[in-house]
Amino acid sequence: MNSTRVELDRKWQHILWKCMLITYLCVLVIEMGSRIFWKGTVEKGLFGCIVGDIIAIAVVSVLILVITGYRLKKKPDEVSRNTWGMCIMYVAMFGCVALVHYGMPFIALLPFVAVIGTTVFADNTLTGVSSLLALVFSCISQLLLYNLAEWKIKRFGANIMLSLVVAVGVYVMTSMCNRHTNELIQAINDIHVKQLNLLSELKKEPLTGLYNRKTFDESLQAQVRNCNDVGAVAVLAMFDIDHFKNVNDTYGHSNGDTVIKVLCSIIKKKISDYGLGFRYGGEEFAVLFTGIDEEKVLSIVEDIRTEFRCYYFQFMRKDGLTVSCGIARYRNNEKGEDWFNRTDEALYKAKETGRNKTVISDR
Ligand code: GH3
Ligand code: MG
Ligand code: MG
Repeated sequence: MNSTRVELDRKWQHILWKCMLITYLCVLVIEMGSRIFWKGTVEKGLFGCIVGDIIAIAVVSVLILVITGYRLKKKPDEVSRNTWGMCIMYVAMFGCVALVHYGMPFIALLPFVAVIGTTVFADNTLTGVSSLLALVFSCISQLLLYNLAEWKIKRFGANIMLSLVVAVGVYVMTSMCNRHTNELIQAINDIHVKQLNLLSELKKEPLTGLYNRKTFDESLQAQVRNCNDVGAVAVLAMFDIDHFKNVNDTYGHSNGDTVIKVLCSIIKKKISDYGLGFRYGGEEFAVLFTGIDEEKVLSIVEDIRTEFRCYYFQFMRKDGLTVSCGIARYRNNEKGEDWFNRTDEALYKAKETGRNKTVISDR
């Protein structure tokens, strides 16, 4: 789980770095291009300005890198801090560009909103709105502060173009981050689902797909508590295949397995709405019924026994294998131990009282 997280974090950092560098290069190229285009010559101060940008950004980046590195060293297991560090660095760099060009700090904050929003919500709408706002605000600031007042329409056009690049840059970059964040969330969800499946598999027994003995004990205890708390009805049915040893001895263990699987699939089919099925031991099975009375349980049990008896087994070329059942009903305010004792009793009834029979424990 941890190694997957580290891997995904690294992948995301790479994407952030790539986005950041590509956009920053684009901004520089467009800035130079637009100035040459609109002015006809490259201003003397232009390179100084670009170098100034780069130094400012480099200083901020190194600072953030040092802080992030320091925090990571202190708490190496919190890898997500790394991601956040990268994210903040990216925002700072981008913010610097916005700040230098628009001279308006709140515009620098908008890409910040987009990126943080992306990190937390992976939401393209938020990114789109933030980028659009960045564009609109930058246009307004250009319009009001510098251009219209002095009628420098050409410069206004160049600045709007730059604003557009910034807005599109924010949108493209954060969209890429969104995609990766979604992948990350998906991967974490997949791991979570796998974990849940694994936990559920641990509760089951592989041959039959019924719950195992440990889960039976836990469920029985929980059931006793539930009955005592809310007065729920609970009925337990214990199944034991008659003369099963003979099947193994005559037809072999793999055919014995087939018999077990057939009975269990019948049990699962018949009890699906009424209770939980467990493999208690080799050819002994338990069903814990809840919310239905003894009469209904008896009819389900008889259904199961009839279907099993009528099942035609290819390896024997005949039907007629039988299963017996003992039924016990939970009584009010019974203790856990009593209930466990009556499990044994029900099983005993299934085994000893008769073959091909259902016996209700009357104690
Ligand atoms: P009883 O009346 O006591 O139930 O007698 P039985 O002949 O029906 O069965 P018994 O309890 O004497 O023996 C059960 C056998 O089931 C012994 C064991 O080898 C076998 N067994 C247990 N688990 C499995 C399994 O998963 N597959 C197969 N094929 N046999 C199993
Ligand atoms: Mg048996
Ligand atoms: Mg047995």
